[in-house]
Amino acid sequence: DVIRNEEIQAARLKLPILAEEQQIMEIINDNSVIILAGETGSGKTTQVPQFLYEAGYALKKQIAVTEPRRVAAISMSKRVAEEMNLSTKEISYLIRFEGNATDETKIKFMTDGVLLKELQSDFLLRKYSVVILDEAHERSVYTDILIGLLSRIVPLREKRGDPMKLIIMSATLRLEDFTSNKRLFKITPPVIKVDARQFPVTIHFNKRTSEDYLKEAFNKAVKINTTLPEGGILIFVTGQREVKSLVRKLRKAFPLKHKSKILEKEKEVKDREAKGEDDVADSDVEEGMRHALRNKKKKKLKVIPRINLDDYSLPGDTETASDVEDDLDSDREDSDVEVSMVTNAQPLWTLPLYSLLPSHKQQKVFQPPPAGCRMCIVSTNVAETSLTIPNVKYVVDTGKTKVKLYDKVTGVTSYVVHWTSKASSDQRAGRAGRTGPGHCYRLYSSAVFNDTFREFSPPEIQQKPVDDLYLQMKCMNIDKVVNFPFPTAPDLLQLKTAESRLETLGALTAGTVTALGKAISKFPVLPRYGKMLALSHQQDLLPYTVCMVAALSVQEVLLEVPILNTGPEELKAVRQKWAATRRQWAGLCNSLLLGDNMVLLRAVGAAEYANSQGKLEKFCDENGLRMKAIIEIRKLRMQLTNEIKKNLPEAEVTVDPKMPPPNDLQAKLLRQILLSGMGDQIAKKIAPEEVKEGEDRVKFKYAYHANNMEEPVFLHQGSVLRKTLPEYVVYQEIYETNKMYMRGVTAIEPE
Ligand code: ADP
Ligand code: MG
Repeated sequence: DVIRNEEIQAARLKLPILAEEQQIMEIINDNSVIILAGETGSGKTTQVPQFLYEAGYALKKQIAVTEPRRVAAISMSKRVAEEMNLSTKEISYLIRFEGNATDETKIKFMTDGVLLKELQSDFLLRKYSVVILDEAHERSVYTDILIGLLSRIVPLREKRGDPMKLIIMSATLRLEDFTSNKRLFKITPPVIKVDARQFPVTIHFNKRTSEDYLKEAFNKAVKINTTLPEGGILIFVTGQREVKSLVRKLRKAFPLKHKSKILEKEKEVKDREAKGEDDVADSDVEEGMRHALRNKKKKKLKVIPRINLDDYSLPGDTETASDVEDDLDSDREDSDVEVSMVTNAQPLWTLPLYSLLPSHKQQKVFQPPPAGCRMCIVSTNVAETSLTIPNVKYVVDTGKTKVKLYDKVTGVTSYVVHWTSKASSDQRAGRAGRTGPGHCYRLYSSAVFNDTFREFSPPEIQQKPVDDLYLQMKCMNIDKVVNFPFPTAPDLLQLKTAESRLETLGALTAGTVTALGKAISKFPVLPRYGKMLALSHQQDLLPYTVCMVAALSVQEVLLEVPILNTGPEELKAVRQKWAATRRQWAGLCNSLLLGDNMVLLRAVGAAEYANSQGKLEKFCDENGLRMKAIIEIRKLRMQLTNEIKKNLPEAEVTVDPKMPPPNDLQAKLLRQILLSGMGDQIAKKIAPEEVKEGEDRVKFKYAYHANNMEEPVFLHQGSVLRKTLPEYVVYQEIYETNKMYMRGVTAIEPE
């Protein structure tokens, strides 16, 4: 029996889904596939797993819940454990590099990618009595594939007399893709619709559509806070960097004046959480709070409990840089309007929200603001459907979203900000009507909305390379991937490109998986990296390749500019110092030819050594490494190492913090290994005489021709190979900002 505390039980009873528990459970008991659609916040994610648990579905087997986002998997498992008064041993999560699942786990929240991997070792998923695919409307690649696979697994389990339930949960969006696809489900699954108490939301369009939507959003928030009645504000922007910049400006405009009240509140919070007592170093004292407490002396600051400063700080300033896409569009960002304090206005409790925000900081948005403050949350589209934020009355919608675009032929990726879909802006607006009537301010005109917005965003599977998916499906003996019951099929060109790339790698021949292909699919990395790992075993280079592959799989290891703002003089000095260190890391001869990848290897090696001496943070700061990336690389190295040990017990591979840099011969072999994995990604230097009449030759100094690309691609500014300009290079990725750039570049020498 579940014994819940009173406060939680009262909150649950307010959720509309609770009134329908009995009906929902009856339909689940009578059907093997069920679609459950309901407005965001109706209680699907937190309550349905509890209904199943209480109905006995976790007695013999586990209940699986998949989420497309890591943040949702972690935060929902915590919330459900708390609601049920059970430990995280029983209500657990599992994401790519971490988790707390145990043998006693009853309900397991995991990312959809993790469940797909589990399918490879047990195609029937016999551990589970129910699989819930949450947020199916997001149409993530893995959720889509899981729907297809589970549509076959469910009848198989039935046949074996060991039935399993499949529950597809979704916002009320585009359900026809699941219900009227006869290839997917022969018998149309029943759809349960849960109504949420939704209050009317008044939509206000702008008369004109301004280019500078961040400035517009700032102005709107100021206007709401200075002229409109009580009620929380939720602002949608496109990425982490925009979130932080807007939060900073709003904190500057509306400092927290009633400090004593806030401290009282913070004390409460602190008593409740009673942990995290580390000292606050001066450098930890963060901008937002500095403004908030600008009248107080430094001494005083130290007395304030850490929880206070920490939770009202922006992590990017003290912990990490932004995710990589955010750094690519730096040219657009800082149209830094001078913000001055708005006097006589209510203080604004401004909080950031985005996927990579540490979860204890995410939890802040669920707690009420300090007395006398208005809540204001600046969020990416995480707040659209995955997390429900209480007490929002005003939504400010920039109408923008950031997507990673991928060119199906050339493989070039780019991040672009463009208009979101009608469906998602309606979701955003809906966030304002959860606790009472609300308002949504759309920072674009109704003409733009009607004429330019698409109805829905296209499913992710049509916008991504499908190589790893294709290989995984082949390994599951899915012969004709083209005939797979995808909810929405990727286009033929994507599948063909994936197949031919896998054939080039040697993972497939004539459409069948080779032994190498099987080995490759065991590694939780892209197939090309899997191949590099498989080969380096033969050369006794596994520790290096593991390290390189791990480093290449993590975004933005080496920073371009310091995280903390500095003056232009200082900035220049720091950049020069970092560049000098990187040149030194690059070394000579074959090491130098290994180029950017040598620098990566040395950087990670040196950081791990510093870590073994307890000096990681200092080392990262001084040398321009992103500390979080180093930690993630370490996790990935351990995970890959364990995976290799399982498959090849005789392999000599450990994660050694004192790993010496590769010697000249090893560097040469590593180049060959890189080439074997990325042989389709080669570029040739553009000779000066090839530059067309009238074009500026200087501009083409770092230009290359990449295979099957018309436009030139360039060596990135941070590349150590800009000094030597090799004739041929192999690159890890091309991305586009104002120009096309190559990342992770190594030289190829004719042997
Ligand atoms: P759905 O999945 O239908 O969108 P959820 O189950 O996520 O709905 O949310 C139900 C309710 O639980 C919401 O009102 C939400 O605010 C609340 N809730 C979810 N997570 C937390 C949390 N960590 N702390 C407090 N309340 C939460
Ligand atoms: Mg949900």
